[in-house]
Order: sequence, then structure tokens, then C-alpha cells
Amino acid sequence: MSSQLTAYIALICTSGVMNLFLSIHAFSKRHHYSTVLWFFLFNSFVTALYCFAAAFGLLSTTLDQVKVWTVFQYIGIAFAPPAGLLFVIAYLGINITKRMIAALLTIPAITVLMVATNDFHHLHYRVFEIDSAMGAPFVQQEIGTWYTIHGIFIFGCMFAAFLLAISRWKDTAKMYRPQLFSLICGQFVPMFTAFLYLVGLTPPGIDPVPMVLWLSSLLYFWSIRSSRLFAIMPVAKDVIFNSMSDGVVVLDESHRLIEFNEPLRNMLPTLDKKMLGCDFEQLWQELTGVSFSFTGLTSMSGNEIKLMIHQTEHIYHVRTSVIEGAGNSKGLLIIFTDITQLKQLQRKLEHQAHYDELTQIYNRRAFFEYCNDQFDETKALSEPFTVILIDIDHFKWVNDTFGHHVGDEVLVHVAKLIQLQLAGFALFARYGGEEFVGSLKGSREDGIALAERLRAAVETQPVLTAEGVVHVTLSIGVAEAKDETLHQLLHRADLALYEAKETGRNRVCTAEV
Ligand code: GH3
Ligand code: MG
Ligand code: MG
Repeated sequence: MSSQLTAYIALICTSGVMNLFLSIHAFSKRHHYSTVLWFFLFNSFVTALYCFAAAFGLLSTTLDQVKVWTVFQYIGIAFAPPAGLLFVIAYLGINITKRMIAALLTIPAITVLMVATNDFHHLHYRVFEIDSAMGAPFVQQEIGTWYTIHGIFIFGCMFAAFLLAISRWKDTAKMYRPQLFSLICGQFVPMFTAFLYLVGLTPPGIDPVPMVLWLSSLLYFWSIRSSRLFAIMPVAKDVIFNSMSDGVVVLDESHRLIEFNEPLRNMLPTLDKKMLGCDFEQLWQELTGVSFSFTGLTSMSGNEIKLMIHQTEHIYHVRTSVIEGAGNSKGLLIIFTDITQLKQLQRKLEHQAHYDELTQIYNRRAFFEYCNDQFDETKALSEPFTVILIDIDHFKWVNDTFGHHVGDEVLVHVAKLIQLQLAGFALFARYGGEEFVGSLKGSREDGIALAERLRAAVETQPVLTAEGVVHVTLSIGVAEAKDETLHQLLHRADLALYEAKETGRNRVCTAEV
């Protein structure tokens, strides 16, 4: 046997052993990995078979022996490319149906059958004989129709797998790129060698593909060990990372962008994978028009930022966390939680807690909250403080005559008229039912003057409703604070209001100082 042939056989056997080892290794680890492993196992097993059959083929001394080993080789030659394609499809998370598997394995099955029965029809090889010049095991062959179909099919499979893997490059997280790179190379090496063989750029009479399959196997093996190829966890983590509702950004020690998830792209629609490696503060400024400051964003503390996305304001709660990487490397994790709806709800609840739903002026609770402060402040400074209690006269009659809805309109109208008169210098609220309350930092005289203005405004400006014009009047009680509590002061204003009612309504009465 020539030394060249021995070298070929040694290379092919290396490929065979490596692929056999890979299939055994994969099989022993089958419980730790996803179903994608079965396609890998299938691929490496038929590849091992291909290599060993090729090695035995090269040891053959008769045409019959060469033919037998060729049939075995074809189990690998025909099935390995579709198995590789299925493996890449599964690895990239594309759904594989049984029909798809059956369709991809039909041609290989026919090919093996064709090669096994070639002597009867010569459809795969028109001529297949021992090379007259070089002798066994070198063969001289002329390809038949089925060989062409088979060739197109396996090239198609390898090329599709290669393109699929490449197409995912941009969307693959940096840390998983070595896995993808090994997939691409693992597909490219046999494809390129087969191409060289077909165009006649390799030694004649021998199929060189099994000689390079050890390189593909080595790449796969390296991937399995170094990047945990097929492991479910990295893929699962990727899925979680991208399906969570929070936007997440990973920065390195120098605050350069390392990774971000899909929800962050919703926050910053112009963000692109090309921007990985850029300074985050600068990038944020460019993408949002506002500056991003790390100061104040201490570890796991909260902060809020506002962003305009598609003309709508969004509010995000921002948390940061220092992450310890391999070695001494440190990174920063920034998590953006969209709290826009929560904020809206919070604002709504705050509004509801302080404002009267019908008249949209302060309610009784808000009045006491703010009035207490004013009351204490003026008391501490010994300044005058006056409250006025307002009640609509004969309001029940309005309801009974025109209906409750007109009563509501009157309440809104009166509240507006009073507010216009106050022009913000006094605190004003709905005290309950058809009663209102006001307070001002001023004397009893100031209170009486104001109350008079309110009374006159309401008396002279009736409400125009669908049911007709409704005239209402106000009775008002005024009281200036002396050495007493707010409740005692309000009680005295109430007594004054009672007096106004008793003495004929549509008037202002004051409590004694
Ligand atoms: P007075 O001059 O003595 O104050 O007589 P009045 O009819 O105004 O007083 P009364 O306390 O007898 O009636 C108040 C009415 O106000 C009874 C209640 O049904 C009505 N009322 C209270 N809140 C509302 C409201 O939000 N909308 C309407 N339409 N009516 C209300
Ligand atoms: Mg009343
Ligand atoms: Mg009343």
C-alpha cells in the first residue's frame, strides 16, 4: 500500500473515531440536553459510518469489496447532510414536523437503494470500475442521472444549513456566537471539500470528504465543551431575557453597551445591534434626546425616567445592579420597568382622593388636609384666619322641580361661579351635599366682603339648563378664628349659617368674635 493511501486511511479513520466518540458522548449526555441533540447524534453517527466504510473501501482489493463499502459509505453520504440541516434547524429553534423529517430523508433512502442496486439499472453510476491505471482501491466512475439528483439534494441541504446559520449571526447574542460560528464552519468544511472534489481539484479516484470531517467534528466538540452547545439553559436564558416585560441593558465596566433585550428595543425603537460596544450615556443621549446619568442610580435603588415613544409619554422605573463577571471583570445591569399605567392609576387615585367627582373642586378630605396647615400657620403667626360656610337655598326644591340632573348642573354652576370670584386666593371645597366651605388668611371683614360677593354673583347669575332657567341663592355663615380648634371655628360658622337661614336666606351672617 502506498504511503499516500495509508495517510488517507489514517485521516479518514480519525474522522470516523471522532464522530463515533461524539455520538457516544452525545448519547451519554442525552438527558441534559434538548431534542436537538438527537439530530446531532444521528448526524455524527452516520458520518462515523461514512468514514469507517470509506476506510474499509480504501483497503479493498476487488471491485465487489469496493462496491459493498460504497453502499455503506452512502448511508453517511446521503443521510449526513439532511441530518445536519435538521440539526441546524432545530438548534435555531425552528419547529420541525414529522412530515419535514420524512421529506428530507426520502431522497437519501432512495439514494442508498440506488447505489445498492446500481448493477441492475446503472442510474447512479453509469460506469463504476477499478481504475485501470491506478488499480484497486481506486475507482473510475461516470455519474448517472440519480447521482445528479442526489448531488443537488445534498449540496442543497448543506447550503441551506450554512445559510440558515449565517442568517442568525446578527440576532445572536455575542456570548453564543462561538457556538454559531462552529456550526457555520462545521457545515462549510465538508461542503467546500465536496465542491473541490466535484470540480476535480482533489486527488483522483478518492472521495476526500471523509478526510476533512474530523475538522468539523473537532469544531462541534470544541463547541460542546466550551459553549455548552445544545444545552437548554443558554437558550432558555435567552428566551427569558427577551420575553420578559422589562427592558434590560448590560454594560461593561466602562459603561459600554454589551447586550440588550427585545423589550428595550420597544423603548428605543432605533436601537440596533450595531450599536453594541458604544458608550451607553452617549448612545442614550443620541436615541432619546435626553441625558442619562448614572449618578443617583446606586445599586438596586430606584429612579424614574420619562421617555416619549411614538408621541406617548412613558414612565420607567430604573434599577441598576453591579454584576461580577469572570475574573475580576465587573459589569452593570440596568433594568427599566414600564410604570406608565401604574403612574396613571396612582395619579387618578390621588385625584379621586382630593377632588369632588361632580364639581371637580377640592373635597372635604382635601379641605381639612390643607386648611389644617393654614390654620396652624396663621395661629403661630397670630394672623387672622376666617372660614365661610355656604349652603344653597331650597336646593331640595330644585331637585324636586327640575330633576336630580338639573340639581347636579346647578351644583357645578355654583361651584364655578364661586371659584371665579375667589380667583385662587382662598381655599375652597365641597363640604358635602349642596354645601361648600372656604377659608382665607384674613379677618372677619374680609370674609364678609368675600361672602357678599359670592352671594351676589350666584343671585344675579342663574343657571341656563335644558329644563329652563334656574335661580338659586346662597346662605353664608362667616367666622373668624379665635383661640379655638378648626372644628370649633367651623361650628361657629355653621351657627352663623343657621342664623342666615333662619333670618330669611340669601344672606351672609357672622359669628360673634
Ligand atoms: P335649605 O334652604 O334649608 O338649605 O333647604 P335645602 O332644600 O337646600 O336643604 P336640604 O338639606 O333639605 O336639601 C338638600 C338637598 O340636596 C337634599 C339632597 O337630595 C340634595 N343633594 C345633595 N347632594 C346632591 C347632589 O350631589 N346632587 C343633587 N342633584 N342633589 C343633591
Ligand atoms: Mg344643606
Ligand atoms: Mg340648602
